[in-house]
Amino acid sequence: MRAFITGGAGFIGSHLTDALIARGDSVTILDNLSTGSKKNITHLEGKISIHEGDIRDKDLVDKLVAESDIVFHMAAALGVKNIMEHTIESIDRNFTGSEVVLNAATKHDKRLLIASTSEIYGKNPNQPLHEESDRVVGAPQKIRWTYSDAKALEEAVAHTLHKTHGLKVTTVRFFNTVGPRQTGQYGMVVPRFVQAALKNEDITIYDDGSQSRVFCHVEDAVRAVLTLMDSDSTIGDYFNVGGVGEVTIKQLAEKVIYQTHSNSGIKFIPYSDAYPAGFEDMQRRVPDVSKIKKAVGWSPTHTLDSIIDSVAKSFA
Ligand code: UDP
Repeated sequence: MRAFITGGAGFIGSHLTDALIARGDSVTILDNLSTGSKKNITHLEGKISIHEGDIRDKDLVDKLVAESDIVFHMAAALGVKNIMEHTIESIDRNFTGSEVVLNAATKHDKRLLIASTSEIYGKNPNQPLHEESDRVVGAPQKIRWTYSDAKALEEAVAHTLHKTHGLKVTTVRFFNTVGPRQTGQYGMVVPRFVQAALKNEDITIYDDGSQSRVFCHVEDAVRAVLTLMDSDSTIGDYFNVGGVGEVTIKQLAEKVIYQTHSNSGIKFIPYSDAYPAGFEDMQRRVPDVSKIKKAVGWSPTHTLDSIIDSVAKSFA
């Protein structure tokens, strides 16, 4: 199979590239190396075809889609910190860029998987979140939600192209995916905590740490992507992909300190010191993954302990 991956040098994209190469596919990637990095794919040089460029480049995307059998659209501007600091560029990349990929896959009738996000559910308090849960987002001036809005529109366009033009698309909503190669630079909590712990520096919790999440190891997430893509029964459908084991951010900090044998302390700061104005957090985010389990038999295998170990090992 000839696979084309947008965002193939990114955190999830580069692990997906590894998995496709391991199973014998040929891989072409397009990445602008913004949140992605050359470092993530240097070990693959000579084995894959790498295009450094923008997903908004219609001619390039059209050509690369035409030359492929399957397309994984993993490129996105993401990370709460990144979205808050580069809002307009992020909306444009996430919406306009995605539209370019969706239109090319429709035109060339290619099997497509798009990476969406649990952010689309916003701050819906009814947990766990299943695929039909409502989107509950704050006012447009609460800039955090622009990521949710752009990705929700992308999903809506994909759904419409499936209905009207037969686009063979599957949508995946990732919930707090973590693992080696994820950087803390854009705000992600696990690499930030682990890096601080390994340096015996204070771990910084925003607010009181009672907010909770469920983390999913990137290996599990990639296995979900491949399993969904390999099954035509998932065409036109959308799936949560997340881990098991809800943890508060305070418990996470304590666990990271314990597992890395760190001397770090914990420091609490208000959201207003951590993010620009317009930030709003969600108190809980718990995925319901029964739909993907029923559809293709996928469930996550990594525990939070093994996720922390794996991230710590990658920074050591
Ligand atoms: N968080 C924190 N300290 C950090 C980074 C994040 O306390 O250094 C909190 C953040 O406010 C949120 C949770 O950890 O409540 C998860 O944040 P992340 O950005 O990883 O993911 P998301 O908010 O998208 O779930």
